[in-house]
Amino acid sequence: MTLGDRLLLAWIALAAVVFVALLFVPAPYGRYARRAWGPTIASRWAWLLMEAPAVLVMAGMFAFGRHRDSWTAVAFLVLWLLHYVPRAFVDPFLWREPTRRTPLAIVAMAIVFNVVNGLANGATLFDRPPGYRDAWLADPRFLLGTAIFALGYAINRDADRRLRHLRGPGESGYRIPRGGLFRWVSCPNYLGEIVIWCGWAIATWSLAGLAFALWTVANLAPRARDHQRFYRERFPEYPPERRALVPGVW
Ligand code: NDP
Repeated sequence: MTLGDRLLLAWIALAAVVFVALLFVPAPYGRYARRAWGPTIASRWAWLLMEAPAVLVMAGMFAFGRHRDSWTAVAFLVLWLLHYVPRAFVDPFLWREPTRRTPLAIVAMAIVFNVVNGLANGATLFDRPPGYRDAWLADPRFLLGTAIFALGYAINRDADRRLRHLRGPGESGYRIPRGGLFRWVSCPNYLGEIVIWCGWAIATWSLAGLAFALWTVANLAPRARDHQRFYRERFPEYPPERRALVPGVW
């Protein structure tokens, strides 16, 4: 086992610790933002600062990687950027949350996460010998993983779009989301995000991809449970059959 693999296993162990911590303390951004977490900045700039490193680090790893001369490497870069460019540079300016602020502590943690995650995935994809050859584009793991990635992407984008339209300009309250996968779960955006990175893990067939999928579950499964509880407490008419994250299951 290489040093890189050992570091990734330690990184996965840290995800498990974060998962347990988030079961007790919701990440303090969005509806759970609290003054006790110290200085804050406007949430849209927070999102840009948090997510931009994912774009920059991956683009840098591609530019300087020693094993990036294949269409497969290009395909992985395109998938990554398809997700992260809108997330970093477009979405923050579409959310309707004029007064929402995010603690700098959260911004700092998200930056560290995106830098480490970008380095791990970028090194695996573009630098680690022997690299991904063009034949990987026809491998069943790549084809299945990419299809799952696309499915998750569609679910995540649709859910985030529906959430955006719950508020009019300048509004900041909460409403019951409806339509799409909201019929079955409270957080289809999180479900879509988890599906995306599970697809990525399969398509890359790598420890770095698996680590990202596990980190996504660690971050978002506790938050989905908290959102579910939030909706049930706030809205007596909240659809009782709606699960938190996985239709019909949980
Ligand atoms: P939320 O669902 O908490 O909020 C998304 C946006 O919708 C916010 O602007 C929020 O406003 C607004 N919103 C949510 N619910 C309602 C409602 N019922 N009524 C009105 N407005 C609402 O998602 P996150 O902010 O946690 O995540 C945003 C995206 O980032 C998601 O796609 C998520 O999957 C992704 N993400 C990925 C992570 C990963 O580990 N890969 C980690 C965290 C997020 P407000 O901010 O005011 O609550």
